[in-house]
Amino acid sequence: TEKIRIAIAGYGNLGRGTEAAVAQSADMTLTGIYTRRDPSGVQPLDAAVPVRRLDDIDAHRDEIDVLILCGGSRNDLPEQGPALAARFNTVDSFDTHARIPQYFEAVDVAARAGGTVALISVGWDPGLFSLNRLFGEAILPQGETYTFWGKGLSQGHSDAVRRVPGVKAAVQYTVPSPEAIEQVRSGARPVLSTRQKHTRECFVVLQEGADADQVREAIVTMPDYFADYDTTVTFISEETLQREHSAMPHGGFVIRSGESGTGEKQVVEYSLTLESNPGFTSSVLVAYARAAHRLSRAGERGARTVFDIAPALLSPRTPEELRRDLL
Ligand code: NDP
Repeated sequence: TEKIRIAIAGYGNLGRGTEAAVAQSADMTLTGIYTRRDPSGVQPLDAAVPVRRLDDIDAHRDEIDVLILCGGSRNDLPEQGPALAARFNTVDSFDTHARIPQYFEAVDVAARAGGTVALISVGWDPGLFSLNRLFGEAILPQGETYTFWGKGLSQGHSDAVRRVPGVKAAVQYTVPSPEAIEQVRSGARPVLSTRQKHTRECFVVLQEGADADQVREAIVTMPDYFADYDTTVTFISEETLQREHSAMPHGGFVIRSGESGTGEKQVVEYSLTLESNPGFTSSVLVAYARAAHRLSRAGERGARTVFDIAPALLSPRTPEELRRDLL
């Protein structure tokens, strides 16, 4: 059987992770990386993979079964998602939760007009966590769903700390409260405040001459980002930041705590411990690219989310093998 021909649009953390995940998939081949930057400045992991200008991608349409969009959710995907879904089967990890309905609409219109399949908001949250929230609600309608994030590096909160005057460099970790998780696991169904669910840990490199107390105060009182949390600020050297804080770990828990009709407590937990957030997210994108290809082959058109994709479509194995080995 022929391999699924994958291409990548945007080569940042997810782009690199996607290249590596395709290399692990025997039924796929990577036919190109497309970037808005000068291609000569972009080094793929495998030097044999061509890097081209995104503007030239239409010339390579017949080499691409599925285009994996690895741009950022804030600035890149709102524009690239609909534009590229009009011409290619796509998979993306759009993660601005509040804007998913609008984004879905825009991509759906483009994909229907173009006769393509577009899987949006694929990853772990949104993505695998969303699926587990859905399972929990559908199976235990009487209950409560809890999502905890971390311990993990939050890009948005790290950026917010870096914008504080006097900060030279910084990272922020979101940490789920062990007490809150224990309570939820016990089946107690507590009502938890924002402050009770997560704490925030900042590691900051100060600019020369900056006042540490002022910087700390500006961070912990920052509305929306930190004011509603217990936040710790630890000042470190640039070398320590490089050495101990350059990885991108993340993860979390989705817990459904409910009661079945028979009255017993039922607690269901799904958890992720990720050494690399982009490394894992791109692995999810690549599995869903397989589904996009199959749906497109079957004549389907339009935007879809993880809720619409049958699990067997993610697997390279045949339905017969899956029934024999995994059922
Ligand atoms: P990056 O910032 O690493 O990359 C985003 C884009 O920026 C790239 O596609 C690339 O486009 C451009 N870029 C990358 N490096 C450079 C550079 N050195 N100079 C100039 N431009 C550069 O973002 P990530 O890959 O880490 O994340 C992408 C998105 O994935 C995030 O915005 C987030 O929303 C989403 N995400 C979703 C998750 C989920 O669970 N659903 C989980 C994790 C992330 P180009 O090559 O065209 O220049």
